[in-house]
Parts: sequence; structure tokens; C-alpha cells
Amino acid sequence: MSTTTHNFKTEARQLLDLMIHSVYSHKEIFLRELISNASDALDKLRFASLTSEELRQLTSDLHIRIATDAKNRTLTITDNGIGMTRDEIIEYIGTIAKSGTGEFAEMIKKASEKKEAGPELIGQFGVGFYSGFMVADKVELISRKAGTNEAHKWESDGQGSFTISDAQLEHNGTSITLYLKPEDKDDEDAQDYTAEWTIRQIVKKYSDFVGYPIRMKVERTHIERDENGKPKEGAKEETVIEEEVLNSMKAIWLKPEKDVTEDEYKDFYKHISHDWNAPLRWMTFKAEGASNEFNALLYLPEKPGFDLYLPNSSRGINLYVKRVFIMNDCEDLIPEYLRFVKGVVDSESLSLNISREILQQDRQIQTIRKTVTRKVLDSLKKLLKEDREKYIAFWKNFGSVIKEGLFKEPAYSDKLFDCCLFQTTASPSEWFTIGEYAERMKEGQDKIYFLAGESREVLENSPHLEAFKEKGYEVLLLTDPVDEVWVQYSNEFDKKKIQSAARGKLELGSEEERKQAEDTRKQKEEEWKTLLEFIQKKLSNNVKEVRVSSRLSSSAACLVSEEGDMSPHLEALLKASGKDVPPVKRILELNPRHQLLNKMQQLFAANRSDSRIEDYTDMLYAQALLAEGGQLPDPAGFNRKVAELMVNSL
Ligand code: ADP
Repeated sequence: MSTTTHNFKTEARQLLDLMIHSVYSHKEIFLRELISNASDALDKLRFASLTSEELRQLTSDLHIRIATDAKNRTLTITDNGIGMTRDEIIEYIGTIAKSGTGEFAEMIKKASEKKEAGPELIGQFGVGFYSGFMVADKVELISRKAGTNEAHKWESDGQGSFTISDAQLEHNGTSITLYLKPEDKDDEDAQDYTAEWTIRQIVKKYSDFVGYPIRMKVERTHIERDENGKPKEGAKEETVIEEEVLNSMKAIWLKPEKDVTEDEYKDFYKHISHDWNAPLRWMTFKAEGASNEFNALLYLPEKPGFDLYLPNSSRGINLYVKRVFIMNDCEDLIPEYLRFVKGVVDSESLSLNISREILQQDRQIQTIRKTVTRKVLDSLKKLLKEDREKYIAFWKNFGSVIKEGLFKEPAYSDKLFDCCLFQTTASPSEWFTIGEYAERMKEGQDKIYFLAGESREVLENSPHLEAFKEKGYEVLLLTDPVDEVWVQYSNEFDKKKIQSAARGKLELGSEEERKQAEDTRKQKEEEWKTLLEFIQKKLSNNVKEVRVSSRLSSSAACLVSEEGDMSPHLEALLKASGKDVPPVKRILELNPRHQLLNKMQQLFAANRSDSRIEDYTDMLYAQALLAEGGQLPDPAGFNRKVAELMVNSL
């Protein structure tokens, strides 16, 4: 096929523009990005070779090569990895393959509006291939897909288009040549990327742990010396070219923490996570079992990735077996509710031929998963203890995901509760664990109470809290949609039931207080028997029972769910997500001490067919709905009745 010209897609063009006009002072990171891509390509070939005899033959000497040419001012990075077909080049290099593109484009736009060239942005974002344009005014990529004989060349000056043509490459893989920009004498940070020393220190700085040799031909001068180390008489200096491996390839996760610098850990995190922020913290550990030995290095991110809440978002643990990369995003090594954790697990005991399909059933993998889960939860608990403020910031970003564990893996609920934070009625803004709540429980309180709903404001004003306020009981205020789900699965903490304040009959206080309250309630129920029946009949489309309440002090009425029924908040959430849920009728509870009801009872006793009673019944129901932030079935009717009432009382 002859040469064809293609235009870059919009986002790619924006990104390129940013790179070309970059004033970023750490332009050297382009090398990290290209080496990282090369290393990924080698990983991919190794993984593909596990199931292909043909490809296996290509994996005997996987490496990355860097070549410089000072005269022509070029720098070439070559790998003998998976390579790309012509279509893949167009797809991956012509557009931005990243799924976070939209978000990134948005950030670029914002940055350019503020007239910033976005240096921050560049350092933070895994900018990838295009970062080459920070230092080059032309980039050429030649690639040959492993297992094929065809190579193709991609070429661009970054000005809106690129060309693709047929090319030659002796081996499978990819070779990228940067035509370096002329040296800028005014730029203090400018470096000569054709100098051996420069390349050597950049590789050391960012890519030392890359698991494949990064080779470069270097010039060495030799002179023959005597036994004292002095140059021999008449000996001449000779220049020889030697190939050197620039990186130590030391698996950073195998080193004791004291031998690794903070920057090395952070660089490795960027290498594996493509996250633009530094990690919040990391941990290394070694598990030693008779038949299951492994090392791990795990990171907690500081900021959530764009895909945290997307279905099928990836789980970020890379699996190695005896230092050989097997696969990234290995799902079976970590539960879904810890999907934000990034890192490496390196097993000494698994077989190198392990495939994705059999991972799930592998007993060793299951043991690793358990250890990893426990370690992560322990480290969360530790962080909470050591730096509460930092943890709260982390919790606000990741708490909803962690809470998924409370229903996906209730067996871990005690451990999970130790690192879950909640808001409660005890403070307007502080966060507490359930354990802390339990320590403050009042004498005679045997349950942990929560109220779930749309917002803290609505919950705080809910009639369901009245009895709790009176007794001085603390209530958890749950406003995250996921809360409605976990409370159904993890409903016990430290042998104490976790119970909704808006559900079932309420029994608060000592044995004696409860008995007394129940007696008064029963007495009132007897007294109001026919009125209750009347109200029940009138509201039969909406409520399943009308009873006298022991949870109200100032409001006249409230609605409660029966044990086991779906809560109205959950019902609303499910409806909002497009689910078809049948409406659940609730129980209307009436305040025995409220004047309104006592007056209604008088009116009812005097004349059962007084039409006002029916109106008041409807209004009572509407009030109960409004108090919990619910929606009225007939707002216009309610308004009319209120207006009538006002007219009559004026
Ligand atoms: P990222 O690496 O973050 O996905 P890049 O812009 O760096 O983004 O690269 C885009 C894609 O191009 C990669 O995901 C990969 O599929 C492909 N690619 C880049 N470099 C190479 C390479 N050396 N060998 C094979 N494929 C590559």
C-alpha cells in the first residue's frame, strides 16, 4: 500500500498541541513514557506467547534498545515486543486510546482558558507516546506485529496529520525515532538527549526497575596498563563501542523498604498505574507458606481514577511469577470493592503457564487474595488511626467503593467496619466508625440505629429521630445510595444489631421504660380504636396499617416500614436507575400526645360523618410524607385543603 495521510482526531490534536508548545521543565519524562510503552509491548508478547508456540520463539531475548545520533540529532527507542499492524497504528497512535480522553480534553481546555500551558497537567497525566513531541519536531514510528512479515511506518510533525507507509523492520516490535528540536540556548532546563550521560541518568531515575534490559551502545576508551595501573609505555588510547545495560532491572517489590527511596516507589507507581497523582501510601509484604510464597507491593491511590464507578472498571494488581510478568489487572487477586488498589504480586509457587481462565479456581490464588484483602484492610485501619484527616479525605473519594464490601463480602464486615466512616447525629460534620459509635451507646441501648435517606438535612429533620433525640441516642445518618444496600447484609456489629430508626416498632430505654411506653401506647390504641380503623380505611391505597406510635414527640404522624420491606429511599433509588419496582405500602404511626390527633378524636367521637375528618386524614398522611422528604401524590389537592383550612380559621 502506498503512503496515506490521516488527520488526528480532535483530542489527539489538543494533546499534541499541548506537547509541542510545552514549557514543562521535566521534558525528560518523554523517555519514561516511551520505555514504559516498550515494556508493555514486551509484556504483551510474553503473555501472548503462553498460548502460542510460534510466538514463544520470539521471546528468548526480549529487550529495549536506545540509540543516539548526535550528528543528525536523533534518538531511537526500539523494542522487540508485540508490535502493531497498520490498522492498530492508526487506531492507537492516531487517536488517543485512553478511555479517560474526554476528561483529559476537558482539563486541557480549562488549562488553556486560564492561559496556562498546563505544565502540571503534563507531569501528572500519563501522557504517553505524544510526549515525544515535547522534545522532537518530527516523530517516526516503524512497527511490525509479532507473527507477521509486514512493517509500517507512521510519521508526523505533530501539525494535525500523520502519514502511514510501508516500511522495513528486521524483527517484530516497534522502533520510534525522535528528530530532536534544535537546542534552545535560553532554556536552562534543556538537556542534550543524544548524550550518553543524559540518557543514562534519565533511565536510572525513572525506569530502573523495568523488567527487561534497556541496552545502549556506549563509547569507551581503552589503554593498555601495567600491573600498577599506569598506562604502558607507548600504548595508544583506543575507542571501543560496547553495549551496556542501563537499568538494574531489580524488582523493587523484592527489596527491603529501607533500600528503596520514596521517589523510586512513586515512579514505580506511575509506571504501573498510569495515575497522574502520587500514591497516598504503599506497603510491601512477604507471605511465606509451605506451598504458597509470594511478595507484594501495594499502593493506595490518593485520587480516584476516572473509571472507579464504571462497570467493569479494571482492578490494578499485576501478577508476576518468579519475577516474570504474567498479566496486569488480575481480577482474582483482589476483591472488587478494593479495585482502586494498585500494585504487584509476585508468586514463587505458581506455575508460569497459569492462564486467566484457571486463575479463579486456583487455591493458591484464593489464598493470595485473602492475604491481600486482609493487608489492605489493616493498612486502611492503620491510616485511620495515624492520620485521621488524611483518611477522611481518602474516605470521601473511596468510601462508597469500600462499603460495597459490606454486601459483597459480609464475612469481612467486622474488619470492614473498622475502616468505614459514617456521619451521625453526634456531630454536624465529623466522621465516626461504628466502633466509636458503639462506645458512646447509652445505658440500656442494645442496638445501633441508623437513618438512611437522600440528604443529611432531610434526615436531621425527620420525625423518625424524635424519640432518639428525646432519649439522647445517637443515630447514624446514611446518605450514600450504597448504604441502603449494605444495611441489608451486614446488620450486626460486635453482636449488636444495626437497625433502621424508621422500621418496625421502636423500643427504647430500660425494660421498665419500654413496658410503660407500650402500656400507654396500647391504652391509646384502645381509646382511638374506631378512629384508627376509619383512617386505615380512608388511606388503604397507601398504607397497610395505622397504629399509635412510640417514636414521635413533636410531629403528629410518620411513616415507617415493616421489617423486611423495602425502604422508600431504596425504592426511589431503584426507580431512578430505571428498575420497575412495585410500590411498598408502609405503616402510618400517630403521635398519642399530639393535640391535632386528640382534637380529631373529639371531632370523630362527636360526629363520625364530619367531612373534615376525611380531609384531615389526607393531610396527616401528606405531612408524614413531606417530613421525610417524600413526594406528595397530589400536591394540588393538598394545597387546596391547606388553603381552605386557612380561610376557615381566619
Ligand atoms: P498508553 O500507553 O497510556 O495507552 P500511549 O499514547 O502511550 O498511551 O499509547 C497508545 C497505545 O499505542 C498503547 O496503548 C499501545 O497499544 C500502543 N503502543 C504504544 N507504543 C507501543 C509499542 N512500543 N509497541 C506496541 N504498541 C504500542
